[in-house]
Amino acid sequence: MVETVLEYLRKKGYPARIVSVGHLKEVQEEIEKLNEARYLDQSMYKLFKDFHNFSIPASPDQAKSIFIVASPSPVVKINFNHEGMSFPVLIPPTYTEYYKKPEEIKQYLNEILESYGYNAVRVTRLPEKLIAVHSGLAEYGANNITYIPEFGSFFLLSAFYSDLPCTDTDETWNKLRVMDRCKNCRVCISKCPTAAITEERFLIKAERCLTYYNEFKGTPEFPGWIRPESHNCLVGCLRCQLPCPQNRGQLDKVEELAEIDETETSLILEKLEFEELPPSLAAKLEDLNISMYYHHLATNLKALITQNS
Ligand code: SF4
Ligand code: SF4
Repeated sequence: MVETVLEYLRKKGYPARIVSVGHLKEVQEEIEKLNEARYLDQSMYKLFKDFHNFSIPASPDQAKSIFIVASPSPVVKINFNHEGMSFPVLIPPTYTEYYKKPEEIKQYLNEILESYGYNAVRVTRLPEKLIAVHSGLAEYGANNITYIPEFGSFFLLSAFYSDLPCTDTDETWNKLRVMDRCKNCRVCISKCPTAAITEERFLIKAERCLTYYNEFKGTPEFPGWIRPESHNCLVGCLRCQLPCPQNRGQLDKVEELAEIDETETSLILEKLEFEELPPSLAAKLEDLNISMYYHHLATNLKALITQNS
């Protein structure tokens, strides 16, 4: 029955795995051990701890398993217009699809589960990458991004709690490791503009990653040690994904999603409060799912425009 559900999702274009909810405790302990071994910067650890929620919900009735599902997710391009010039800027995979795509997957998942009397609900605050790698769905790269054969690193992971039981024969629970290919490749290490990826350890230094500074609320905007030309995306960073040999064949999947006109671009650069934006612009940013990063958007955009003027 588990096999039938996974096959159903695969036919829809979504590779997936199932694991027992019992593994959540192990994942939690794993994170605590990394912290105790002082592998985690304390501000990152706090962010991680505050964000994740490992408590198992009461609904669906006594959740027994977690489905972890991959869906293709392209790089997105948005054109900003400023002082007579057009500035195409990129957003890495997953950002714009984080809410919409899982809803579609949940419908498919429930279509098949409900025919057997089971159910699934989406869960957003789990460490999806860790679960995907343990489950055998994905592999870690040296850049701590996850990869699967079908999509390289250009995919979104969605997790769902289900009341469908998961036995030992239904699941795989692998040890964490990086892809074999990374052993003889240093491309992402050499391309990372902030030296966040090192050879000495499996975990990147997340507190040096650009994402930490251009995405999370409350983090300092562009400390002096980050060179201005390092910034390459409206939010997040693609420097360790685009040149990765594992992503060959994926790079043409750039989707152009929006045009932001001169007036709209100026309003963002002027740091107008989000609530004061014209409703049409606010709706565009919400539709792209970047309104949640509005606190850093003006600074990020300014850096990209300055570089390309
Ligand atoms: S660039 Fe090379 S080392 Fe880095 S994740 Fe890709 S294959 Fe691994
Ligand atoms: S996302 Fe950018 S800053 Fe972060 S590790 Fe990759 S290349 Fe380095």
